[in-house]
Amino acid sequence: MNARTEATVSVVIPCYNEEHGLQSLFTRLYPALDALHRQYEVIFVDDGSSDRTVAGLREQFNKRPDVTRVVVLARNVGQHMAIMAGFAQARGDYTVTLDADLQNPPEEIANIIAAMDSGADYVGTVRKNRHDAYWRKAASRLMNRFREQTTHIRITDQGCMLRGYDREIVDAINSCVEVSTFVPALGYTFARNPVEIEVAHAERAVGQSKYSLFRLIRLNFDLMTGFSVVPLQFFSMAGMVISLVSLLGFVGLTIRRIVHGPEAEGLFTLFAIAFFLIGVLLMGVGVVGEYVGRIYEQVRQRPRYTVAALLEQESTEAIVPAKERA
Ligand code: UDP
Ligand code: MG
Repeated sequence: MNARTEATVSVVIPCYNEEHGLQSLFTRLYPALDALHRQYEVIFVDDGSSDRTVAGLREQFNKRPDVTRVVVLARNVGQHMAIMAGFAQARGDYTVTLDADLQNPPEEIANIIAAMDSGADYVGTVRKNRHDAYWRKAASRLMNRFREQTTHIRITDQGCMLRGYDREIVDAINSCVEVSTFVPALGYTFARNPVEIEVAHAERAVGQSKYSLFRLIRLNFDLMTGFSVVPLQFFSMAGMVISLVSLLGFVGLTIRRIVHGPEAEGLFTLFAIAFFLIGVLLMGVGVVGEYVGRIYEQVRQRPRYTVAALLEQESTEAIVPAKERA
């Protein structure tokens, strides 16, 4: 057996108010992982749930303490920061992320592992037949295209969180202290040999998506501000073009004034142009604000999340990092 097929696996699952779905997740996840025939650990991160999620995770920890670890966060910090909290704990050679709502079939983990065994250090996924609301799919297509054009990140389906990261990438991610981030994009920036595979996707089994339109917009701003300054440059360039056009307009009108004498028509056209420019201006200020707000959060250097409790076996048979095995 070569070293890669002995690689150990950490599975990180963020859970936010998922009490009703946990049982079916456990009954599918653990057999799928046992079938891999390698050492693994599952790290559940409770993202400040207000329902019985923590109790459900504790129960599962008591059933399978050898392969289960639970990180309980003090407050809700969002899916991506919750994954960061899980990454800080992950000890496997490979780390796979998964949603708790069974939209990502746990059986697909085997395919991610296979791709990593063949040498990929980052396995992205593309959802076949995505089962989400129509407006979500349309918005995703738009955001994927926008990201392709404004960043160097080449991932087909940024929203699919079922992904695999090699140890070195997880270490690199762990060394980042950003307060707002987008984990798949961050991982991609460190990847040397990224690949993509297709995975199945299911409808959410129980409960509702934790993303309102507002939260989705915020998440996409995290992605945009975290990985590109093109939006800022776009506004400075738009400013230059508009100034140039205005200058030409000014010269033209001055000549007209000399040739035709004073005129005072086209008031409504003037309004339309003024409103349009004010709109562009407000949008530009907003974009700058998105960056500035995140810089402000970053410079305050508050802890990004606080761990309220960590459930794990003390003397553990759990997986040993490759470095220590050697
Ligand atoms: N999640 C989380 N914190 C949040 C929101 C979501 O940990 O603030 C988790 C959630 O429990 C689930 C995953 O992130 O395991 C994906 O969330 P969801 O299914 O609501 O998102 P969608 O599939 O609609 O994109
Ligand atoms: Mg979901």
